[in-house]
Amino acid sequence: MKLLELYSGKAKTVYKTDDPEKLIMEFRNSLTAFDGKKKSEAPKKGYYNAQIAAKLLTLLEDKGIKTHFNSMISDTEMVVDAVDIIKIEVIVRNIAAGSLVRKYPFKTGQKLDPPILVFDYKSDVHGDPMINDDIALALGLATGQELSEIREIALSINSILVDYLDKRNLLLPDFKLEFGRYKGKIILADEISCDTCRFWDKTTGESLDKDVFRFDKGDLVAAYREVARRIVPEIFK
Ligand code: UDP
Repeated sequence: MKLLELYSGKAKTVYKTDDPEKLIMEFRNSLTAFDGKKKSEAPKKGYYNAQIAAKLLTLLEDKGIKTHFNSMISDTEMVVDAVDIIKIEVIVRNIAAGSLVRKYPFKTGQKLDPPILVFDYKSDVHGDPMINDDIALALGLATGQELSEIREIALSINSILVDYLDKRNLLLPDFKLEFGRYKGKIILADEISCDTCRFWDKTTGESLDKDVFRFDKGDLVAAYREVARRIVPEIFK
């Protein structure tokens, strides 16, 4: 049963439930970029992202990755485990894009093999700065063992997703993951969607993700719908 709102972020709202170990995560149509400086609403964005996230989290569970996903209870709401979130944004990069190209001498589209893993401190007031293991340890964000476990799980998730998306003619230049502690284990939390991944059409290189909004590249809803068509074709039947 859905109870009080616990937290409302830029694109999702989290509610308590009558079970203290479970939360409801609602995907909304709002979206922001550039630390919240650019804001908008897009019809059905929440729906497409929720359906894509549910499908990808289920895929990962099927491949043996523990996630917070339980079930969908509406088109845009999922029941998830109430994890203790680790305040690290784990970014996996397969192809150079975005901030990597702005900050370092990489060229957009350059293949990164092996993939690059980056940790950012999840803190809006600090502007999500990049951190290393020493900073994470000194801030008490995670233990050394947790950091190595997170690194290993993130790379496994990457292999599974790259392979799955390739079959759907999508490249995965980079994406962001969040992890949490639940019943003594590290599990995958948050979402995997067009808001948190870069998806490029493998044939045309076209962006089918939040970059459409960030850089006014066209119709955001059409881009998200196209990713949904490839990942969750069953919802269009
Ligand atoms: N990302 C995210 N949330 C953030 C920061 C990044 O989901 O707060 C995702 C972003 O969508 C992209 C990847 O992480 O797929 C790498 O983002 P990058 O560091 O290049 O930042 P950006 O280009 O968004 O400034």
